[in-house]
Amino acid sequence: MNEHLQRDLSQLDNLLEKVKEQGLEYLKNISNRDTSTQNVLKGKLNLSEGGLGTLETLKQFNERFEPIIVSTSGPRFWGYVTGGSTPASIVGDWLTTIYDQNSFATNGQGDISAIIELETIQLMLDLFELPTNFLGGFVTGATMSNFTCLAVARQWLGKELGKDFAKEGVSDNLNYLTATPHSSAIKSLSLLGIGSNNIIKVKTLEGNREAIDVIDLESKIIGLCGEPFVLISSGGTVNTVDFDDFVAIAKLKEKYNFWWHIDAAFGGFAVCSNTHKHLVKGWENADSITIDCHKWLNVPYESAVFFVKEQHKHLQVETFQNSNAPYLGNPLENFSYLNFLPENSRRLKALPVWFSLIAYGKKGYQEIVENCIILSNQFGYFIQESAHFELLAPVRLNTVCFTLKGKENQEKVNAYLTLLNDTGKVFMTPTIYNGQKKGN
Ligand SMILES: *Cc1c(COP(=O)(O)O)cnc(C)c1O
Repeated sequence: MNEHLQRDLSQLDNLLEKVKEQGLEYLKNISNRDTSTQNVLKGKLNLSEGGLGTLETLKQFNERFEPIIVSTSGPRFWGYVTGGSTPASIVGDWLTTIYDQNSFATNGQGDISAIIELETIQLMLDLFELPTNFLGGFVTGATMSNFTCLAVARQWLGKELGKDFAKEGVSDNLNYLTATPHSSAIKSLSLLGIGSNNIIKVKTLEGNREAIDVIDLESKIIGLCGEPFVLISSGGTVNTVDFDDFVAIAKLKEKYNFWWHIDAAFGGFAVCSNTHKHLVKGWENADSITIDCHKWLNVPYESAVFFVKEQHKHLQVETFQNSNAPYLGNPLENFSYLNFLPENSRRLKALPVWFSLIAYGKKGYQEIVENCIILSNQFGYFIQESAHFELLAPVRLNTVCFTLKGKENQEKVNAYLTLLNDTGKVFMTPTIYNGQKKGN
């Protein structure tokens, strides 16, 4: 055996202790760490014949990478929708690595990771106040969750047209209706062999809203003359956290034949707050829902769930089954996650989520979510009161969309943001809203 590997195995306690101490040091000082860096990485290491051993490798990491790692999970990193990691989720994540289960096995035979995952999905449904007629599973992020849901939706569309797309491939022009989809939904359609030319854009509400105009939606539906379609709706757009009216869409679903997908990657967490849960009212009527866990659930990357109505289980299995692997059994009889989602082998992604939900409960998440909402509102208030900035949309949840005051300053927004982010004191992301460059 390689001498380094042998030594590492014999001093594993020392190695893990060192990493624990370093991790604690990082987390203790995360508020002081810069949110961006100007330093560029110097040099590179080549693959050596005999290796360096873990202690020396840690030293190399600490010399070259560690000093320029920025505090993306710290309190002043406001870009994108970035979560941190709760203590319980760190524990769950460490154990996921230590136990190193392959999370696809079934019904307790061999390993129990699928059972942990199913239990965690029930906890998630509970947190989101969704009915138990949704089935769910874990994928790497909301992009893959959108992909998973839209893959099953595609199979549904095929069935409506008398085709089995999983077997025959995609043919036909398919109809996708949406108002303000997240870029990852478009990417998913592209991966699914459905070009963005198949998207029928529905109007948004008057007044620079990003939510769908349900009246225009209905007229577009009528224009389809009974053809089946998929509706991709928003449970929180990224610019202004605008929500489609789920109650109104649910009513349309009683009248027309369509697959309803909701991308609620972070907006779904509105349900944790008594003052904001009305935003997702009616979402339980959707066919599929995307939720990110590495955002507002505050578990480490990579973690998201999809929820798909149980009634579509056969479509899901048709889409994802490993039909040429007889040792995996009949996928409808023997439930297995590898016939249910894109990946086969997976780490036990559910465990950090399970730990965090069990450790902090509904109240814990209510506090996390409401605290963010309060701080966002406070920030929005400061922007509104400021002589230099302009608030562009009401603060609906956890995002503040604003710009520099004055038409003449609009060209300076990107330069301003770059300057601001270069300070390393705070980090925000630019966007285009209503055709104009903004800060977020
Ligand atoms: C973040 C986000 C996504 C993409 O999520 P990833 O976790 O980055 O894959 C999709 N939809 C919405 C609404 C998001 O906010």
